[in-house]
Amino acid sequence: MLLLALQAVEAERSAGRSVGILLSIEEAGLVIEEVTPDGPAERAGVLPGDRLISIDGQQVEDFEEYDEIAHDFRRGAPATYRVVREGRELVLQVRPGMPFPWSDFVFNFPVALTHLALGLLAFAQRPRDLRARLLAFLSFAVALELALPVELVGSPTLSAAVDLLFIVLTGTQMGLELHLASMIPEPRGWLRRRPWLVSVFYLLGLGFTAPAFVAYVAESWTGVALPWTLDQGLFLLLSIGLPLWAIGVLLLLGQAALNHPEPTGRQQAGLVFIGTLPWAALVIATMVLELMALPITDWVTQVETLALLCYPVAAFVAIFRYHLFDLELVVRRSLIYGTLTAALVLVFYAVVGLGGAFLSSRTAGGSVWAVAGATLLMGLLFSPLKEKVQQWIDSHFFRERAALRRDLVALASRLPSHGHLPAMGRELVERLCEVLHVDSATFLLADPDAEILTTLAHEGPGGSDSQPVLLSLDDAGVRLLLDARRPLKPHQLRDAGSRIEQGMRRIDVQLLVPVLHDDLLVGVLLLGPKSSGEEYPLEEIELLSLLGHHVASVFENARLFESATRDSLTGLLRREAALDELHREVRRALRFGRSLTLAMADLDHFKEVNDRHGHLTGDLLLRRVADTLTAGLRSTDIVGRFGGEEFLVVFPEADMVGAIQGAEKVREMVAASFVEIDDGARIATTVSIGLAGLGEVEGDTPGERSEALIAAADRRLYEAKAAGRNRVVPSSLDAARRAAEAGRFKPSS
Ligand code: GH3
Ligand code: MG
Ligand code: MG
Repeated sequence: MLLLALQAVEAERSAGRSVGILLSIEEAGLVIEEVTPDGPAERAGVLPGDRLISIDGQQVEDFEEYDEIAHDFRRGAPATYRVVREGRELVLQVRPGMPFPWSDFVFNFPVALTHLALGLLAFAQRPRDLRARLLAFLSFAVALELALPVELVGSPTLSAAVDLLFIVLTGTQMGLELHLASMIPEPRGWLRRRPWLVSVFYLLGLGFTAPAFVAYVAESWTGVALPWTLDQGLFLLLSIGLPLWAIGVLLLLGQAALNHPEPTGRQQAGLVFIGTLPWAALVIATMVLELMALPITDWVTQVETLALLCYPVAAFVAIFRYHLFDLELVVRRSLIYGTLTAALVLVFYAVVGLGGAFLSSRTAGGSVWAVAGATLLMGLLFSPLKEKVQQWIDSHFFRERAALRRDLVALASRLPSHGHLPAMGRELVERLCEVLHVDSATFLLADPDAEILTTLAHEGPGGSDSQPVLLSLDDAGVRLLLDARRPLKPHQLRDAGSRIEQGMRRIDVQLLVPVLHDDLLVGVLLLGPKSSGEEYPLEEIELLSLLGHHVASVFENARLFESATRDSLTGLLRREAALDELHREVRRALRFGRSLTLAMADLDHFKEVNDRHGHLTGDLLLRRVADTLTAGLRSTDIVGRFGGEEFLVVFPEADMVGAIQGAEKVREMVAASFVEIDDGARIATTVSIGLAGLGEVEGDTPGERSEALIAAADRRLYEAKAAGRNRVVPSSLDAARRAAEAGRFKPSS
């Protein structure tokens, strides 16, 4: 704003000094080449062809001398021009002062302010999105360029600084614009693979700038003779660099508009392409005119300023208003909404008007208050009524959308009633498959402590038994989802270098929906293909995005609640919670004289899995074992994660024979289960289990009995390890024999 004001002041000063002539230097000296019609010079009688000898008695022989004298001109203060016309000397009184150049400002002011506003808006939209930042910088740079005063009379240093800044800004804009064009609709694959190309963009821009910059410095200050002149440098920058740059931007955008895999992506790039076209066309036309030495009229420059605005506006719309691309729907809805809202407003005013007229015919003086009161009442009613009308429109004209929205809202609001996380997750994925008619849905829940995302529930082919997906929260694709804050397609994550696809090879994912609670990633929904085989309509994607935000707090609260008792990786009870349960069961068994058996289980050679395949694979396998334990045991059995890869199982009401059967079953199941890793290899493990019965340990209190029970089961676990692992060691051979007779136990020795 300050710069714009300065620009205006400078323009006024310069206009005030101007007399409306164009000089050229010839052998005879300074000759007046053109005279502005109706300008001060013409009014004083100056004609083209006059030779200028002196002003106010001072000799003028070249431009510099003229500028020096003209610098002290004041609007309206007469200056004496002595000229020679056809051999005769004439003395003419010129009163400087041209009208203020309004036409420049009519364009510059609003366009500069719009750029500024656009930049701020883009930045406010998504400060973490690089495209938003580039767009903001670009808009600021253009705004600054437009706001710079054209000439700063009276301060040569400042004036030179402004000129240099102008040159540098042009080069920076080149880099910024190429960079941005290569990121619409999102960073192109080739750019991700070769990040150094970004610096090439900026180097190119500054490369075109350098000759003009260096020449300017050399000519203004150092006096060093360069092989090229400032004019040549500026020609390279403005007449060659600018058009080439425009073509480069068009090529980048055109390529995306033609080849982007998504229709919306093509539309987005196409929109920006069209937005760039007017400006690029003008730049190229200007270059052609200049090369052909044809005059360039003022309005071309002005239109160019305006055309320049189309690019960032188009980029802004393409990046941040992509959802409006479902034009048919937008137009249809705004037409219907608009008509009905307008009708509503008309009815309101008619009612208020009629009521007012009626009242004023009845009462004297009080009618103003009555009308004001009625208007206020109507105003209060307007908003709820409008909402009702829109709901009515939705349910009559957009029935499917309304139904979908209703179903999703119902789904979100029913979730908390399912109490604990796994049930909530199951409900979410099952109902989503139904509502959206999709084949599969998976919900990954984030664990901020362990910094991983892990499968909470899966619906679809493979059932709930399909492989769990495990992903680091630091994964590039996960970060992209977090930044984008909206659903993305798998290829977008792949381009970002995500590992997510390796994790979900078994499931066909078409859409990834971030579940965000403010800036916190609570989870990610992976949605499979639609049963109809169609793409996801944009409407649905938008509703899903809303759903993601809707259910986020529900899941986050449940996760916080459960993280106190449940282990996030395995979903099993944490050690303390498991011990609480054990105490409770021991107390109950003692009170009612029932039996109870405890199992301690430890995975075999688990360190090797970690060492060989990485900790993340180890985690996956751990999770798989935990799932196997839960699946293989009864719902009344209590399973907890006792330590890293050690588990505790309480078999309430079970004697040693029953516990052996349960333990054997899960031992076999664990040995048969596996996880598949990237190269298709299957990673498996085995488990050693020690058992101890309540009857065989001593202690005065339930607490002591529990501790003794753990110690006994632990001892047997070590016996199992010592005996070669992958086995169950019970309390007595007698029990083992009886279990063997029941066909569930094969003593290993
Ligand atoms: P064995 O029990 O058969 O004697 O051999 P082991 O290699 O399993 O030995 P131990 O039970 O002492 O090893 C515990 C190892 O389990 C150490 C660590 O590498 C691994 N581990 C513990 N907790 C976790 C975990 O949360 N995630 C992963 N990936 N590994 C864990
Ligand atoms: Mg172990
Ligand atoms: Mg261990």
